[in-house]
Amino acid sequence: MQNPLIKTVVIVGGGTSGWMVAAALASTLRGRYQIRLVESDEIGIIGVGEATIPMIQLFNKVIGVDENEFLRETQGTFKLGIEFVNWGRLGDSYIHGFGSLGQDLWTVRFEQYWQKMRRLGKAADLGAYSITRMAAKANKFMPARHDLPNSPLNQINHAYHFDASLYARYLRKLSEARGVLRTEGRIVQVVQQPSGPQEGHVQAVVTESGERIEGELFIDCSGFRGLLIEQTLKTGFEDWSEWLLCDTALAVPCESVTPLTPYTRSTAHSAGWQWRIPLQHRIGNGHVFASKFVSEDQAAATLLANLDGKALADPRKVQFVPGMRSQCWNRNVVAIGLASGFIEPLESTAIHLVQSAISRLINFFPDQGFNPVDVNEYNRQSRFEYERIRDFIILHYKLTQRDDSAFWRHCAQMSIPDTLSHKIELYRAHGRLLRVDLELFAETGWLQVMEGQNLQPESYHPLADLQAEADTAEYLESVREVIAKCVEVMPDHAAYIAQHCAAAKPMLR
Ligand SMILES: Cc1cc2nc3c(=O)[nH]c(=O)nc-3n(C[C@H](O)[C@H](O)[C@H](O)COP(=O)(O)OP(=O)(O)OC[C@H]3O[C@@H](n4cnc5c(N)ncnc54)[C@H](O)[C@@H]3O)c2cc1C
Repeated sequence: MQNPLIKTVVIVGGGTSGWMVAAALASTLRGRYQIRLVESDEIGIIGVGEATIPMIQLFNKVIGVDENEFLRETQGTFKLGIEFVNWGRLGDSYIHGFGSLGQDLWTVRFEQYWQKMRRLGKAADLGAYSITRMAAKANKFMPARHDLPNSPLNQINHAYHFDASLYARYLRKLSEARGVLRTEGRIVQVVQQPSGPQEGHVQAVVTESGERIEGELFIDCSGFRGLLIEQTLKTGFEDWSEWLLCDTALAVPCESVTPLTPYTRSTAHSAGWQWRIPLQHRIGNGHVFASKFVSEDQAAATLLANLDGKALADPRKVQFVPGMRSQCWNRNVVAIGLASGFIEPLESTAIHLVQSAISRLINFFPDQGFNPVDVNEYNRQSRFEYERIRDFIILHYKLTQRDDSAFWRHCAQMSIPDTLSHKIELYRAHGRLLRVDLELFAETGWLQVMEGQNLQPESYHPLADLQAEADTAEYLESVREVIAKCVEVMPDHAAYIAQHCAAAKPMLR
């Protein structure tokens, strides 16, 4: 039996997630459904969340955004990866670069040859085989050259840094132009079906001014408060703070400095870490820390002492609990963004989680029957994605060798999820990497963090011996050389931006 179609989708919240949902639905539902968005300027948006991962390029394509225009409007810059400083040991530094590493040979993965040659002292640092890592170190940028399939220039993969408030504003303009109706006002009442087969479903939200906004499908993008999913439906939250100890962030912008780096930096401190996100008009910074291990005053002092430029405001505090909703979709409410859960921004995954939730919502777009089979599968996939990202983030803490603070000693000794232990054991034994189903981070991501934090396998893949040692050495060297030559011809990051997507305000070179 065909159930009646949804007529109106109501999005509650106008932060990054609310406007991303609005823009994507306006583009895919082709005007056949009414899309309404309610937000409160008085409550405002979280206003952090400025670093992304490469999949955002796909999102921009779906909503029809021109890259250069988008970067101009959001003071955006390019991102080739994340530099991790002081994570393995004090003084260590490595980059988790986007894109592939080396070139696989026959059926054996590149890193297996590299591991073998490293043992023999005949391999360069892993980063030398990644074009994004080498380009990041040299402050160079250009997009991939897909017309050169055999060149490392084809393997450049990039994401963006942008100003979160400008991004929401940009998406709002785009969504309203495509028919999304915006209502300004604080929601003070949520009306639910009193009885019947859909008892408890949300029927309407009512704003302070008395406006009643009805719909059949509600998207909760109300941020940490989870106005519909938690305050109304009492869905429940799974807390992961046993593994992810950080629970507070202090964010502060500072003046720009040169050079304009094409990567995010994450510097580990004594009880957390500090992000550095370079934009065209400023640098975004924040100290994410565990309040059980360091006081807020100390954390603020550490943050301010580690800025590259003059602070442009006082630090702003955000508290959070790491974890996710027991169900991201409950009845006729789908929670997206911070309302659905939160994993600290160490690998810039939150905006991606919004994007993938939107694509899942479109795959499982309901009619008014809200078939539990669809809802359950949506929830299963959401959980899988969240849990696998959680494991990847825990990996960064677990693999530390730092013992200079109680926080790091705790991280090194803590028990971890079995799914993560399994991956670490596989790597430790033979350097094997495992990507399960469609989990977000690919083998190269795991490899770079494991190696970057000094986890070295006990042996390598036996089939790496099928090729003679001298041939393998020559092969590795040729890959390294070609990459180095490609990076030489790439333009400087700031120069590329100045030529293609400079924002209205002048930027530093
Ligand atoms: C410290 C920190 C750093 C982060 N860094 C990154 C990063 O580098 N990369 C990344 O991908 N992500 C990052 N994130 C996550 C990112 O900020 C969020 O995923 C993103 O901003 C989405 O937020 P949101 O739209 O879900 O919530 P919010 O921005 O909080 O928006 C909530 C919306 O709901 C509205 N609202 C709430 N209650 C009501 C009500 N009663 N009536 C009407 N409207 C209401 C508000 O007005 C607002 O419009 C970070 C998060 C934190 C906390």
